[in-house]
Amino acid sequence: MTNEFDREHIWHPYTSMTEPLPTYTVTSADGVRLRLKDDRELIDGMSSWWCAIHGYNHPQLNAAAAGQLERMAHVMFGGLNHAPATALAQQLTAITPPGLDYVFFSDSGSVSVEVALKMAVQYWHNLGRPEKRRMLTIRGGYHGDTFGAMSVCDPVNGMHTLFRGVLQEQLFAPRPESRFGDPCNADDIAELREILEQQSDQIAALILEPIVQGAGGMWFYSADYLRQAAQLCHEHDVLLICDEIATGFGRTGKLFASEHAGTAPDIMCVGKALTGGYMSLAATLTNKKVRDGISANDGVLMHGPTFMANPLACAVANASIDLLLTQGWHQRVTAIEQQLVNELEPYREHKAVADVRVLGAIGVVETHEAPDVAAVQEAFVGAGVWIRPFGKLIYLMPPYIIPPDDLHALTRSIRLALD
Ligand SMILES: *Cc1c(COP(=O)(O)O)cnc(C)c1O
Repeated sequence: MTNEFDREHIWHPYTSMTEPLPTYTVTSADGVRLRLKDDRELIDGMSSWWCAIHGYNHPQLNAAAAGQLERMAHVMFGGLNHAPATALAQQLTAITPPGLDYVFFSDSGSVSVEVALKMAVQYWHNLGRPEKRRMLTIRGGYHGDTFGAMSVCDPVNGMHTLFRGVLQEQLFAPRPESRFGDPCNADDIAELREILEQQSDQIAALILEPIVQGAGGMWFYSADYLRQAAQLCHEHDVLLICDEIATGFGRTGKLFASEHAGTAPDIMCVGKALTGGYMSLAATLTNKKVRDGISANDGVLMHGPTFMANPLACAVANASIDLLLTQGWHQRVTAIEQQLVNELEPYREHKAVADVRVLGAIGVVETHEAPDVAAVQEAFVGAGVWIRPFGKLIYLMPPYIIPPDDLHALTRSIRLALD
């Protein structure tokens, strides 16, 4: 199955170049199915890392891309604008939490995080408080692979020792242990509070993934914690950045996970599902306070990617958001959540399982021991499903259009893998 040239010459994410794990060649994809070179079909449990919420080869998304392609694939954003970008900025400001009315487009999630960090630093600099330039975050987070974003990833998972002296040293509070659905235990927030009380004069912003920590451990924490953290930021004059790159566009059962806590951040990042998994596009949204702070005294935000607001990507994003809003996303995510609860919860009794958690269209089975990835991967492919575990985590985040039978095939194959 593995393509020889690929094996010899092409890097894959976080894998050895000299002892690569097997890869499977995909020739096409449709709905929730990936088709392999040998004509086998796999039911997709990953949405290509949170992105393909409407499934693959969707006629409306295809039409949006093709239609825009006829007009123009790309044009620079310096000094020019275009209808797809305007329409998308209007959609985003309308559906995101209140106050996030100003939009900066970029080309990937990591870059949107860099922009968010830069906004926070420029904001305080421009207000005459340049010493407020450190970031505060919580352990267990993941914010991307560029250096600024890495500096706020979990220091252990993010291998900060490897990059000592290269990465900016940021401040870390413990991962909140209070679970989603529970109130926040007082001990949980104590250290965050202490850091803010003692060091807020150096801190530009608190950055976190609201409610669901994704690639850092698939952990769902208390909405009450998020509410209290937002309140502390407010009291201590620290900006709040919510990274909704994984959680945005309905995945957790709210359109944006910040809504679980009823908070609106000062800065918010979106990416991943923004284009329904078609193209790479991200955005950083901010409120009037941050916009005005950065713009005071003729200030300008010092950022401008070459492919900023790429028209093809914006056109597909508009179509994807239209689909999301008109196709009953909430009902679909709720139905997936219910089925995941029904079918994954019983695995808690299995001796290999340490924990099971479900929120929205995300199901996680945590095992006691990390399985051999290549062997588990092969077993899943053999069972006709695409599930890619990491560490002790086997998880599902299927496209919202997945029919119950296909979702059942995914949960059943996890049972086989556990055995
Ligand atoms: C994936 C992810 C990123 C990085 O996005 P890329 O598009 O991979 O650069 C940042 N933050 C979160 C929460 C993510 O899940």
